[in-house]
Amino acid sequence: MDECIFCKIVKGEIPCTKLYENEQVLSFLDIMPASKGHALVIPKNHYATLLDLPHKELKSVTKAIQKVAAATMVALPGVQGFNILQSNHKVAGQVVPHVHFHVIPRHENDKLNFAWEQGKAEIEELKKYAELVKGKIK
Ligand code: 5GP
Ligand code: ZN
Repeated sequence: MDECIFCKIVKGEIPCTKLYENEQVLSFLDIMPASKGHALVIPKNHYATLLDLPHKELKSVTKAIQKVAAATMVALPGVQGFNILQSNHKVAGQVVPHVHFHVIPRHENDKLNFAWEQGKAEIEELKKYAELVKGKIK
């Protein structure tokens, strides 16, 4: 993926503030952080979305997320929690088309807000959607 910005970071063609890496995974600080210490965790291989990421690499990425989040919790002052954000496709807010996970440190009374307006659903509607999805789970 010649034009992918995260592939360029993996190859060292664009600098990053590296937090962690192993054979399959790289973690670095987000250049436009939602909060101090906002990190990204990516597979080194290029995959567009979560659905393209093979299980073996997903496992490595997940382990790295835990490592980075745990370190962030103890290393950075005032961090009392974190959100993991992962967006797939443009409609969901994915800007960089190389699968990545955000690790976003949270502080008491920070102004971040991932809340949405709670919807309403009838049980029959839930059952209908459950049947549709269940039928496609492989
Ligand atoms: P998305 O919106 O695709 O889930 O998130 C992409 C993230 O990548 C954004 O938070 C953005 O700030 C970050 N980002 C984009 N380009 C670069 C870059 O060149 N370096 C770093 N460190 N982060 C980047
Ligand atoms: Zn890429």
